[in-house]
Amino acid sequence: MKVYISVDMEGVSGVVHNEHTSERGFDYQLARRLMMGETNAAAEGAFAAGATSVLVSDSHGGNGARNLIISDLHPDADLVTGFPRPLGQLAGLDESYAVLLLVGYHTRSNAAGVINHTVHGRAINKLTIGGREMGEIGINALLAGQAGVPVGLVTGDDLTCQEGLDLLPGIETAAVKRAVDRYAAQCLAPKRAQDLVRAASERAVRRAPSLKPFAPGHPAVWEVQYKDTGMAEVANQVPGTTMHAPDAIRFDASDAVTGFRTFSAALAIAAGTLR
Ligand SMILES: [Zn+2]
Repeated sequence: MKVYISVDMEGVSGVVHNEHTSERGFDYQLARRLMMGETNAAAEGAFAAGATSVLVSDSHGGNGARNLIISDLHPDADLVTGFPRPLGQLAGLDESYAVLLLVGYHTRSNAAGVINHTVHGRAINKLTIGGREMGEIGINALLAGQAGVPVGLVTGDDLTCQEGLDLLPGIETAAVKRAVDRYAAQCLAPKRAQDLVRAASERAVRRAPSLKPFAPGHPAVWEVQYKDTGMAEVANQVPGTTMHAPDAIRFDASDAVTGFRTFSAALAIAAGTLR
């Protein structure tokens, strides 16, 4: 049984600020070790539940998705690191995987929660897919769903776990911190956070055969509202997109992967205006 573990950084216990998540941040080296600890805990849980292979994705955009410290990686796991790459936080995921675990995730933009954002905090204000606001949990659930892979676990702050449960009722969660404000949280000590993640991962992987892939249906309309009108105007250069509002584009996607590719191409152009 193959298990895919996608690991972001904002939802790891102890991480609450850009000084943790940016490679130039004062606390970045500590944050990547904390991220590594929850990653290995999730891998241990997966192997304890019968996983035969575990692929870990370094899914945090900071430092070009080279945050995890491979010399400390669980010896039986593989690691996808580096960016850009197809499928973003799920690079390499395909039909052969039994379950997807989302570790260290965060709430979507326009919602409360520690360092809430959707994919690019300085570029995207709101993403709506098929009439429903989505963050990274939603995007990844859709992409995995197209491959027939269910999400089994979401970990992060308490609000992130709730966002996961709202979208994917019945999944396992592990709240490793309680959101106090966008840049503040009550955090579990790393050892206890890792114990929670390990146990939840084990439960999720044991339940994998009975979990259902997320498949709300495509074709669907994707709408992307950016932080300013200039970003929307250049994003609209991607063929197939139309202006939806002065600061937003929309497009029809035949399936989740196609939608994500259009979304990613438009975002790359939009984010280019920040330079
Ligand atoms: Zn991140």
